[in-house]
Formats: sequence, C-alpha cells, structure tokens
Amino acid sequence: MVKNETPKKKKMSLTTKIFIGLIAGLIVGIIFNIAIPHSYVRDTVFVDGIFYVIGNGFIKFMKMLVVPLVFCSLVCGASSIGDTKSLGKVGGKTLIFYLCTTALAVSVAIGVSNIINPGKGLDMSSIKAADNVATQDATSITDTILNIIPDNPFNSLAGGIMLQVIFFALIVGILLAKMGERAELLSNIMNQCNDLMMEMTTLVMSFAPIGVFCMIAKTFANLGFDAFLPLIKYMASVVTALGVQLFFVYMLLLFVFTRLNPFKFLKKFFPVMAFAFSTSTSNATIPMNIDTLEEKIGVSRKISSFTIPLGATINMDGTSIMQGCAVVFAAQAYGINLGAKGYLTVIATATLASIGTAGVPSVGLVTLSMVFASVGLPIEAIALIMGIDRILDMLRTAVNITGDAVCTTVVAYQNKEFKKDVFNS
Ligand code: ASP
Repeated sequence: MVKNETPKKKKMSLTTKIFIGLIAGLIVGIIFNIAIPHSYVRDTVFVDGIFYVIGNGFIKFMKMLVVPLVFCSLVCGASSIGDTKSLGKVGGKTLIFYLCTTALAVSVAIGVSNIINPGKGLDMSSIKAADNVATQDATSITDTILNIIPDNPFNSLAGGIMLQVIFFALIVGILLAKMGERAELLSNIMNQCNDLMMEMTTLVMSFAPIGVFCMIAKTFANLGFDAFLPLIKYMASVVTALGVQLFFVYMLLLFVFTRLNPFKFLKKFFPVMAFAFSTSTSNATIPMNIDTLEEKIGVSRKISSFTIPLGATINMDGTSIMQGCAVVFAAQAYGINLGAKGYLTVIATATLASIGTAGVPSVGLVTLSMVFASVGLPIEAIALIMGIDRILDMLRTAVNITGDAVCTTVVAYQNKEFKKDVFNS
C-alpha cells in the first residue's frame, strides 16, 4: 500500500479546477438544455460528439486503472495484513473490527439511501452508456459464493471479474508476507507496481476537471434541471449515513466496549478529524492520530503505531459509505433492481474495496467502479457523482480515520494498554 501523498498545494488546485469544471459544465449544460434548440451542431457535434467523447474517454481511463490498481494495492495491503499474524491477538481483533465496521457502514449507507431514494426521478437510462449496461446473472447464492474462486486467475484479471481478482490478490499478498525474504524481490516489484499505479491515478485525475466538465455538460444538456434534485439527495444520503456511522455506530461501540464518554472522545479527537477533513488524506493524518490518541485519549503507542497505519490503509468506512450510496443512486437512476443478492455483493465488494483503497484523495472513486462492476451497474453514473465528490471526500476521510481511532481505543482498552487518567484529564 502506498503512502503517496499529493502535495497540498497541487491537490488544492486540482480541487478548485474540478469545482470550476463542475460549475462550468452545469452552466453550459443548462444553457444547452433551455436556450439552444436541437440541431446537428448542438446534438451531434457538441452533446453526443465533443462532450460524449471527452467525458467518456475520461471514464475509460478510470476503468483502465481499476484492475491493475486494485490488484497491486490489495497484494501490498494483504501482505501487510500477513505481518499482523506476529502480533497475534491484537492483529486478529483489529482486523475483525475493521472488517465488521466497514460491512456495517455499507449496510447503513444502503439503508439510508433506500429511504432518501437519491436516484429516483432521474432517468439516466436515456443517456447513452459507453458500454452496454450489464445485467445481473440469475445465479443462486451458493454459486455466487463459489464464483469468488477463479477457475483461472488470469482470466479474472483480463475480464475484470473483481471478486475473483480480490480473492486471488488476497492469497498472493498473504503468502508473500509468509514467504518473507524468499519472496523479497517479488514483494519489491509489487510495491513498485503499486507506486506506478498510484502515479497513473494522479495523472488520470489531473484530467478530471475537463472530464467532469464534459460529463456534467452532457448530462444537464439532456436532463436540464431534473438532474439537480437527485444530486442533492445523493449528497444528503452520504452525509446522513456518515453521521449515523460517526455519532451512532462508533460512539455506541466505544461506549459498549470501554464505557468511555463518547462526547469527551469526540471533543478530544476533533482536531484530527479537522485535519483529515482539510487534507482528504488518511495517510497524512497517521502521525497526528497516533499522537492525539497517546497524549489526549491515553492509548499506548504499542498498539496505535500498528493499528493506525494499518487502518489508514485498509479501513475506509467513510469511503464504503459513499460507495453504498452511489450504488443505490446509480441503480435507481438506471432503473436497475439489485435485489438482496445484489446488495450482499455490494456489501462484500465495498468491504474488500476498502482494503484496496489507498488513503489519499479520490481513490475511493476509482475503486467505486469496481463495486459498480461487481453488480453490473454502468459506471457512467460516476461522472455525475464525481463533480461533487471532493466535498464528500473531505467528510468521508474524517470518518475513515475516526473509525481507526475508535478501533484502536477499544483494542488498547481490552489489552490494558490504556491510561484512563489521561482520558479523564
Ligand atoms: N480520501 C480518502 C482517504 O484518504 C480515500 C477516498 O475515499 O478516496 O481516506
């Protein structure tokens, strides 16, 4: 897993550019929708020509990243989990906690979104998709589980069959860790491939402003004001689900396992959340998180120096929440009924995607296409979401690192590596 942090200045300027792309696309799209009558130039040259080609070209670049990025990132992530074996009880507990809270987070997101219904009323099926919209195979649950094991992993990689790719990558990563020095060269190569994919992600993301402009302009040229409300509802779903996870799920877990005062915890931890919010980068908050947990909460570094970096790498509850909401949004907008099996697949894939999401800005959007692919949703809907994703990225990163801190506090408390007097001071 890569600790590849984008310099703050460059990141901020990209954020601004994406916002400009979004607003400009919105204005141009609305003007096309209400002020420019249908004509060859309007429809064929602009909307279905320039906007479509550039917008979908960008989406195709994103798609291109998914398989290699997820594979490399998961192998490296899993090999760091493999190391945790030596940490025995702490490693096991931390992993279970991280995976369970992530699965819970996706479930909260799906529940909240199904109440708010962000995609209802938005008819995206009228918008031409880059690829044919895949439909869900009517396989039984038992076969769905069996299908996670690839017949041929190269086939899974080539075909982008994500659950199989994840499964294979996890085994490779864990065994690489187990082989230690014997596989040092391969481990280094995997780490370098991972670095390469992160560089490529940064490169592709640098085209996001123009990609967002074109996709948004095309969407609003076709749909006009009808596209507004769903986007606001989507944001409301993500923010509500993040709130439920932060104030209800985490605080309840903290109270149940440690009897500590959740309000005091939040107050003391707030500066770390603010830092995560302003940088959108879990990795960048690692030192501050460890420090705050020790100085203000009373968690021993013995625990946090292992669980916090691991959490920043594999535990992304906020990101999974965004992905859960995005799935419901897209499914509703395209009129696709996912059903219980589809949602279970989403919970499984988003939980695993969280392991493969690096703690740097926007990577959650890239792994989102993998979650979409797992249930056959067209990834064109990501373009709509992308325009507003930077704000949500800030919020979800704050939730991501709070999940790591709550888990660390619980594990430290249970392993008697916790100083109550520091917390109470
Ligand atoms: N920005 C997130 C983080 O660093 C990852 C993401 O959701 O894109 O935690």
